[in-house]
Formats: sequence, C-alpha cells, structure tokens
Amino acid sequence: MKSVYLDYNATTPVDKRVLERMLPYFSEKFGNASSKTHAFGWAAEEAVEQAREKVAALIGCEKSEIYFTSGSTEGINLALKGIFENYCEKGKHIISYQTEHMAVLDTLSFLKTKGADITLLPVHRDGTIDLQLLKNTIRKDTLMVAAMYANNETGVVFPVKEIGELCRRMDVFFFSDTTQAAGKIPFHVKEDSIDACVISAHKIYGPKGVGAVYISRKHPRLSVAAQIHGGGHERGIRSGTLNVPGIVGLGEACALAEQELLSDSMNQSRLRTLLEQSLTVQGNVFINGNIKDRLCNTTNLMFKDLKSEEIIKNIRPVAVAAGSACTSAMQQPSHVLKAMGLNDDESYASVRFSLGRFTTEEEINYTIEKVKSILNKN
Ligand code: PLP
Repeated sequence: MKSVYLDYNATTPVDKRVLERMLPYFSEKFGNASSKTHAFGWAAEEAVEQAREKVAALIGCEKSEIYFTSGSTEGINLALKGIFENYCEKGKHIISYQTEHMAVLDTLSFLKTKGADITLLPVHRDGTIDLQLLKNTIRKDTLMVAAMYANNETGVVFPVKEIGELCRRMDVFFFSDTTQAAGKIPFHVKEDSIDACVISAHKIYGPKGVGAVYISRKHPRLSVAAQIHGGGHERGIRSGTLNVPGIVGLGEACALAEQELLSDSMNQSRLRTLLEQSLTVQGNVFINGNIKDRLCNTTNLMFKDLKSEEIIKNIRPVAVAAGSACTSAMQQPSHVLKAMGLNDDESYASVRFSLGRFTTEEEINYTIEKVKSILNKN
C-alpha cells in the first residue's frame, strides 16, 4: 500500500472533475471578472456568477447572499468583525463555544480588544451542548451567537436548527461556522435560521485559498462592514480581484457535493463503522464525542495508555491527525478535547481519522491492521 489518506477534515484532494472545470480559467479564459469592456471579462464574470448559483444552491440561499473570499478563515473574520462593527450599538455581548475552531476563537479574542464581551460556553463530555444554558446566557445586550455546525476534530454536530430558532425568537444574530458541515450534511440556511455562515472549497474537493460567506439579505437584512477595502468588488463587501479559477472550482465542488452527498455519506459511514467496530473491540480504544449526532466521515479515537504520536508514527503510510492541535513546533493538547473534559493524557492519546470521497474498504482494512499491530504490541 503506497499511502492511505485519512485526514480529509484537514483538506481534500481536488476532484478531477473540479480541476477540469477550472483549467481553462488559468489560460484561454483568463479574463478579469471586473473587466466590463470586452469578452474576456464577460466570460470570467459569467463563470463567477454560475459558481455563485451553485454555492447558493448547496446551502439554500439566494445567489445575491453569497460573497467570495479566500476561505473560511476570511469569511469568519468578515462575518464576525463585520457584524460587530455595524451593530455594536445594539449590544456588545457575543456567545460562542469553547470547542469552536481557532478561526472563530481568535477573531472573538480580537473583538474583545474592541470592546466585545465574549462568553464561551462549555460543552458536555460528549461534545454536545446544553440549549437551556444557551437560552439562559442570552441577555438584553447579546448581539450574536457563533456556533459551529460540525466540529472539525470530533465531527460532533450541534443542534443548529434549535439554536437558530432560539436566536430568532430572542432577536439575536446567528453565525454558524459551517466549514465541516457543507457538503457532508444537507442543510438549508433559511430553514435553520442561520444569518451568516462560511464555506471553504478545499474541504469539499475544491482548491485551497477560496471560499464563500453567506450573509442573509432578507429576514434579517444583515449588513456587514467590509474588512478589506479597495475596488469595491463583491458589492463592496470584499474587495480584491476575484480568483476566477478558484471560484469556478468552488462552484463545481459545491455542485458535485450536492449531487453526491448521499452516496458519499453512505460509503463513508459504512467504512467508518468498520474502522470503529474493528478497533473498539480491543477494549482500550474509545470514541471521543457523541456517536449519534456526528459527521459521517469522522472518528476521534482515544487509545488508552498510548500516545497519538506513537500511533501516528507507527501506522505510516496512513495519514491521520493527532487529537492535539499542532501550533508551530509545540504540541499542545487539543482545546476541543480539553473542553470536553479529557485530561492531558487522554487528549495526547487521541487520534482523528477523517474519511472522504476516495476512501476505499481496502484502505480501511489496511489501517485496521496497522493500528491493531501496535495495540497488540502494548
Ligand atoms: N472552521 C473549521 C471548522 C475548519 O475545520 C477550518 C479548517 O480547518 C476552518 C474554519 C478554516 O478554513 P480555511 O482553511 O478555509 O481558512
């Protein structure tokens, strides 16, 4: 076996069908989508607008509610900072969760320096949330709730529809980091009362460095303050020459995700069950996170009395992620697992396996054998 990639939550390979769509926009169709005076520009603009439609279709919004960005991190910054800047008169209190991605947590820390009052709510041992606690935490000056749809480390899915309904009832904006959910779970931003959310192409078999942010234009008509100025692209919300090939790739990735969501998730769910059942029978392997409300492709496993480092090294060429976030050269225990109540040893003993569109049964069987051989040695 040459190599087995089981780190799809980190990034995915570009689907060949996506790449094929993108290629002409690097060469013969190289126009600037803002050039209004010639056919090169018109062709690029048309491709961008088609992509916008495909992104909107995946999450159930209007195309005029989609703005292209360089990825989810930028979209999160734009939504959170842009909402706070425009509405801080309404209230400065923002509620979020300790298990959010660093793109959200770091942006909220920045907003704290601008006067925001941030409450980071805890989660249960299985990574799920307490809706009543959220309700009790909402105050008169609460401006927004930022809650992810699905966790990148454990796959745990939040009850987004209920959070959205609560926010709507209590007149609070609702931002959801939907980076890991898009293309994996069918969802509809309007049905879930989501006012803003993000998508990243490289998590759904598109290219890196491109994504989109959804900002509701109706009920509520949300206005966000631009964070990048110059040229007024994307209706003044996000300036900068559009990455046309990337956007075409994102659009195609969204269209394929929509078409293949069901078959992809059935396949991944079956293979994940095979992986989990084969490893947890050993008795010293445990699943981190709620097993019911979870992405179909992710399993975060804790190998009692072992170190994730050791496992990762010994199962190569299988590529997986540690349950700890690697910040520069220093390995730190995952803030997600710690928030779920795991101690440092348990966190350092955890490994994330994330499957994807191209994962095969043969690869999973090979991975099981590799992991078992380490477990049998210990
Ligand atoms: N949010 C979540 C939940 C993620 O998993 C990631 C990627 O790791 C991001 C945000 C950031 O996405 P991007 O790489 O597009 O900036």
